[in-house]
Amino acid sequence: MAARAFPLGRSHRLFRLFSREPAHDPLAPPVPGAVTEIKTTTCYMCACRCGIRVHLRDGELRYIDGNPNHPINRGVICAKGAAGIMKQVSPARLTRPLLRKPGSERGAGEFEPISWERAFRILEDRLTTIRATDPKKFALFTGRDQMQALTGLFARNFGTPNYAAHGGFCSVNMAAGMIYTIGGSFWEFGGPDLERARLFVMIGTAEDHHSNPLKIALSKFKRQGGRFVSINPVRTGYSAIADEWIPIKPGTDGALFMALLHELIASDRIDHAFLKRFTNAPQLVLLETGCEREGMFAHDPDPAKGAPGDGRHPHNKLVFDKTDGTIKAAYPEGIAPGCDPALDGHYTLADGRRVAPSFQLLRERVAPCTPEWASAITGIPAARIVKLAHELGAAAFEQAFELPIAWTDAWGKKHATTQARPVAFHAMRGLAAHSNGFQTVRALAVLMSVLGTIDAPGGFRHKAPYPRHIVPNFRAFNSPDMIKPNTPLNAAPLGFPANPEELAICDDGTPMRIDHAFSWEHPLSAHGLMHTVITNATRGEPYRLDTLMIFMANMAWNSTMNTMAVREMLNAKDEDGEFRIPFLVVCDAFQSETVAFADLVLPDTTYLERHDVMSMLDRPISEFDGPADSVRVPVVPPLGECKPFQEVLVELASRLKLPAFTTPDGERRFKDYPDFIVNYEPQPGIGFLMGWRGVDGTEHLRGAPNPKQWEMYAKNDCVFSLHLPQTMHYMRNWNREYLDFAKEKGWRQKNDVVQLALYSDTLQSFRLAAKGQTAGRQPPEHLRERIATYFDPLPFWYPPLEDAAVDTAKYPLSAITQRPMAMYHSWDSQNAWLRQIHSHNYLHVNPLTAQKAGIADGGWCWAESAWGRVRCMLRYSEAVEPGTVWTWNAIGKADGAWQLAPGADEARKGFLLNHLINDELPIAGGGAISNSDPVTGQAGWYDVRVRLLPAEPEPREASSPQIAATPAPPGVRGTNARASAPVARRREP
Ligand code: SF4
Repeated sequence: MAARAFPLGRSHRLFRLFSREPAHDPLAPPVPGAVTEIKTTTCYMCACRCGIRVHLRDGELRYIDGNPNHPINRGVICAKGAAGIMKQVSPARLTRPLLRKPGSERGAGEFEPISWERAFRILEDRLTTIRATDPKKFALFTGRDQMQALTGLFARNFGTPNYAAHGGFCSVNMAAGMIYTIGGSFWEFGGPDLERARLFVMIGTAEDHHSNPLKIALSKFKRQGGRFVSINPVRTGYSAIADEWIPIKPGTDGALFMALLHELIASDRIDHAFLKRFTNAPQLVLLETGCEREGMFAHDPDPAKGAPGDGRHPHNKLVFDKTDGTIKAAYPEGIAPGCDPALDGHYTLADGRRVAPSFQLLRERVAPCTPEWASAITGIPAARIVKLAHELGAAAFEQAFELPIAWTDAWGKKHATTQARPVAFHAMRGLAAHSNGFQTVRALAVLMSVLGTIDAPGGFRHKAPYPRHIVPNFRAFNSPDMIKPNTPLNAAPLGFPANPEELAICDDGTPMRIDHAFSWEHPLSAHGLMHTVITNATRGEPYRLDTLMIFMANMAWNSTMNTMAVREMLNAKDEDGEFRIPFLVVCDAFQSETVAFADLVLPDTTYLERHDVMSMLDRPISEFDGPADSVRVPVVPPLGECKPFQEVLVELASRLKLPAFTTPDGERRFKDYPDFIVNYEPQPGIGFLMGWRGVDGTEHLRGAPNPKQWEMYAKNDCVFSLHLPQTMHYMRNWNREYLDFAKEKGWRQKNDVVQLALYSDTLQSFRLAAKGQTAGRQPPEHLRERIATYFDPLPFWYPPLEDAAVDTAKYPLSAITQRPMAMYHSWDSQNAWLRQIHSHNYLHVNPLTAQKAGIADGGWCWAESAWGRVRCMLRYSEAVEPGTVWTWNAIGKADGAWQLAPGADEARKGFLLNHLINDELPIAGGGAISNSDPVTGQAGWYDVRVRLLPAEPEPREASSPQIAATPAPPGVRGTNARASAPVARRREP
């Protein structure tokens, strides 16, 4: 029989499919006639958004390297990024839509494959009914995705308030604590200016945060002779290259900041000029007690100057002028020429009311927070705290310099130079993931402010579209009347409340959202509380859902506290046999633990198979010197029937005829997701992407839609960036040129100044309501004391809430997790290359602590909390302070998930610390409340207290708890795929 001639590429692929050849042999000679290509796109092996080059041969993925032209990583790639090839060929890939078999239990993983058309019809029928009757019964919660501008738009147009992404269980304390204080935050929206800093203090930052960009900057910083201090309970990889590692007990960072403030203020190492002009430090606070204005800023009584500020638009505050001893207006005119506003002292207004500058109150607040006080809490010697304060002051003031950059402030004063304060900080989840995290982050932001290092050269710098107003002009919906059948919400589901009137509560004070966000339980929960949804929906508190759609979040495993109970809740039924959460839709690219619980599974693509945007409407990749956004473009076709979740949402929105996705004639408005991205405009001329706008692609930031916009991004390394003139690089909270520009380009609704809120009258407005001193909304009785305590207008430290709920003598150790450099959450549990770095985890314990518990290095132990216990392997480590134990997050797996072989290391030896963490804590007066920060609802992941006990040997040593394996769902790619050849080996000669 004559051989059939295949085109070279195809025959080669077929041969490779059935051969035992490795997936990639870098030493193999080039294949004659092979077509090689290099395509650029954006990495998504973690959230840093590095630019990558994907090398293809005959359309097949060969390897991935960093894109040297990309502003984020400049060619650098990490292990995860390079291992994207193994994500692409992972055996755990889902390839077909799946429907749970009738009568099967959730968690059993019994599915039948269905067509996309059937999947869409199921969703369309169900969601049409919900939307026409009670839209809040549909909830959409997503994990660490980067498309919240789209998912939020979908939810708002659907008319449901029940929408959020991962922020509430990740780092909302970092975002909210900073934004409510300085108008910006770390990572996407700001960071340390290491190019000009002399001292860099990193605190509470895991191995992978802001990974490549921060490492590139750190390497340059160290070469330039900068001093790097890392403060962390664990000597992380960052700490290892620091000049000094200062161990600290988890949850005590706020006490350290308070003591540093004490030292800096006591020794007068503060930036007086900055505080007087650019912060609310000199503004006078009313000291009268018991009235409705207690603790609020005094305001100009002249009716022509308007009513007192509402927390969002303060506009007529007062200062005491030391030059002539009179009280003058501070805002909006600013500090008048010649006025020297007092930062200290107590004064009396003309009407006899007593007042004091807010800085005086801060001074009084930190007075008892001595280094000795903080030492007893943090474990850091008092002398070291004093020295650190001295180092901060020395860097900010003795090493200060000026850049020859003239700028004009918001009140018209021209500054001939820009003042540098070369002390920079970076902090992240180690501060945030505690129930005292909001006030801890506030304390850090205030510390940075007294040093004058906000948007200053060498300090913290904003990235566009930040800074935002304090409080940002994003109100969430606040009335049950706003939820109507077949009607979009007339405010976004998420926002930044400025006062109790903006809470999402019913008339009787009960929450309006399923996660209880923006309720009296967690008023400033700007990112929602994904970690409460399953518990609340199962109990029907405040109501039952019909359909819960989860995207890219492993809620049946590592994305939830109290994991075993949550798995039971997902399967909980009413007496009539109906599931308490009637319909569960899971969209994921991989067979995660959560997939087994779904009623409907939607197979997502990988990041190499789809369009994506890192938008100014969401989380752009802006740099300090100007805005930047970027895209992903497909470099390979989708596997099987995989469909990007973005396409699913655009398709669903079109079928449901959601207004933003429908023409006035009722027709479908967008062909697909790329079409939506190009043509959707929330305001005229503003779209998801800001590069190459205008019909001919010659306009940027603002302009008409350009049908060739995707092409332009693809031709330009998938990134657009704009460097602003130097005059707009710094001091942007008060920089007139920048504020006007930001408003013109649609980044801000107003061009008003962003005064730093060292003292927060917003927080005070909630406290006054709790104390019954205001006429508006007031919290229910059982939450009054909680609100009055934690909504303190000045930062303070209090022990994590778990400490009061457990016997800390019995459970003396803090247990924390961090993500390893080589894996991002559970995303890479199925990645053949990365599994070789971490296939199971240990509990890392200081030898002194382990020996005291009688556990050998490498031995098995029980880690036990008041809420649960896990059996795990322990490793001695000098790189952790003795009161802390820690492990890698999300390495332990349920047997059978992620297409891991039965009894794989991840399931047999790996373990999940989540089993030790309760999702609720008792509350005064009875009952329980989410184990979260009382201000923002941030999950208190790192508050858990544990003890260690030796474990008896077992015949076949294994971690505990173990989960019964679930079968592979139909269509999962499986281990027979060529991807099972996991390692590139050199061919034998
Ligand atoms: S740091 Fe993150 S985005 Fe950058 S290459 Fe590594 S995995 Fe990819």
